[in-house]
Amino acid sequence: MDNPRDYYEVLGVAKDADASTIKKSYRKLAMKFHPDRNPDNPEAEAKFKEASEAYSVLSDDQKRATYDRFGHAGLRGAGHSPGFQNSDEIFSHFSDLFGDLFGFGGGGGGRRGRGGGGARGGADLQFRVQIDFLEAIHGVSKEIEVPRAVLCEPCNGGGAEPGSKPATCTTCGGVGEVIQSQMFLRIRTTCPTCRGRGTVIKTPCKICSGQGRTRESSQLMVNIPAGVSTGLQLRLTGKGDQGDRGAPPGDLYVLLDVQEHDFFKRDGDDIFCTVPVSYPQACLGAKIKVPTVDGEEELDVGRGTPSGKVITLRGKGAPRLGGRRGKGDHHIQVVVAVPEKLAPEEEELIRKLAGMQDQSVVKKGFLREFWDSITS
Ligand SMILES: [Zn+2]
Ligand SMILES: [Zn+2]
Repeated sequence: MDNPRDYYEVLGVAKDADASTIKKSYRKLAMKFHPDRNPDNPEAEAKFKEASEAYSVLSDDQKRATYDRFGHAGLRGAGHSPGFQNSDEIFSHFSDLFGDLFGFGGGGGGRRGRGGGGARGGADLQFRVQIDFLEAIHGVSKEIEVPRAVLCEPCNGGGAEPGSKPATCTTCGGVGEVIQSQMFLRIRTTCPTCRGRGTVIKTPCKICSGQGRTRESSQLMVNIPAGVSTGLQLRLTGKGDQGDRGAPPGDLYVLLDVQEHDFFKRDGDDIFCTVPVSYPQACLGAKIKVPTVDGEEELDVGRGTPSGKVITLRGKGAPRLGGRRGKGDHHIQVVVAVPEKLAPEEEELIRKLAGMQDQSVVKKGFLREFWDSITS
């Protein structure tokens, strides 16, 4: 991976710029290079990605501090992977921010035209799916049951009771359009009563109450790719609510919620865990078995390993998403475990060691002496 440009330079701000300056500058760049404004412009997309990456770091106090001290390498070392693969990833990452910055949701919804005339397209739906930690690492197929609007079969989406005849709309007189006055403008719009059809339903379909659509549970298979994380949304095109007859369906956004793991922690593609070793193992070195997300691995604890040392197993972390090759790393923090209880022989040996090293330790029967000293 080649080193990205300096983040401050990317955003065109000073090294000591405050949060609001950084945000303002990012907003300007994001507006300029936004994919909606630059369709099929890879250069603009690259700029958009670059600015978003810079902002994701500089807007986070902790990441910014790491970056200030250690640069790009420091971020990678700390397990952050600020890079974005595509615009959708940026939108889902910054969905709150984009709403805040631009006054609209950051997701794909609303970016596409929805059917002509007055026919309403289906609404986008969001469905939360909980998966467990290792499923997120390895990928999984889940069957979900989503309540969504589908075309009413008896009336074929028309909303009229089968066999009945529609009547001319009285609002628009059958034209399908009305003139609306707003301030000093007169705007011709689709008739709100008949939604442009020119006719209204006199006898509504009993099944859907004239809505043309009914709500039912649809079973869908979602293929969740390996390497996903909480907050990521998968878009299932056309799997949202069905629209009016002739209008496109909405999309279904599957929002992933990955459960925590008792042993593994995760940041981006990197996995973290803590493994205990004994004092003799830390002193003399040992080969120990450690769990990784892909099974057991042998870890070489070197002679004289200090407690708290982090040993990294390269490429043993979570798979990278979005066509990036390889996997993150697995960082193992080795901690010297202190036994709560000692066998008499163990205690003797440790006391001997303390004596050899001339280290002061609490004497045997300390409690007795302690009480004597404060009561005398
Ligand atoms: Zn009308
Ligand atoms: Zn119906």
